Amino acid sequence: MKLLHLTGPAPYFTNSFLLVSGGEAAIIDPAPDAARFAPLLEKENARLTHILLTHGHFDHVYGLDSVRAAWPAARLCLFRADAVGTEDRPVKESPEILWLTDGQTLTVGQAELTVLHTPGHTPGSCCWLCEGVLVSGDTLFAGSAGRTDLPGGDWETLMRSLRRLADDPALPDELRVLPGHGAFTTLGLERAQNPYMKG
Ligand SMILES: [Zn+2]
Repeated sequence: MKLLHLTGPAPYFTNSFLLVSGGEAAIIDPAPDAARFAPLLEKENARLTHILLTHGHFDHVYGLDSVRAAWPAARLCLFRADAVGTEDRPVKESPEILWLTDGQTLTVGQAELTVLHTPGHTPGSCCWLCEGVLVSGDTLFAGSAGRTDLPGGDWETLMRSLRRLADDPALPDELRVLPGHGAFTTLGLERAQNPYMKG
């Protein structure tokens, strides 16, 4: 599994990822538009099979329309609770959409991804787990946590989600955490130092 990092446009510079394995690829949070992903897919000689969202906020889906237009067969995967969270561009029912459930697994090439439903920042926020990496969206940041003052946000719910990540023995300290904004970190560092994770 190879994970390429891109960032979306200013001023949010949202972290976005292209996961490549065995000739297939998945975009996690299409903040950049299709023109940024196309040369990477070509270089990796990979076919885009999935578009995965950590949640529906606009800064994470800037490029969603162009990506769906460029690769119409790719499955768009998100929690139904965030379909309306895409604000001015709600996701409508279509055969390409896969509504996620907690713990669901997906295969991209030889890579297996597991989605963890971690609501709080938004009702449909989630983290994507794959081969020692956790793409945490706006749930968990290095030294911080997502805001809960936007529509659908809920502080108590976010704290429960962070508790879940802190306490889950299946998630090792060495797990690399790639948040939706800012620096990358590890779960062990956040367990030790992040005030929102220590309860
Ligand atoms: Zn957000």
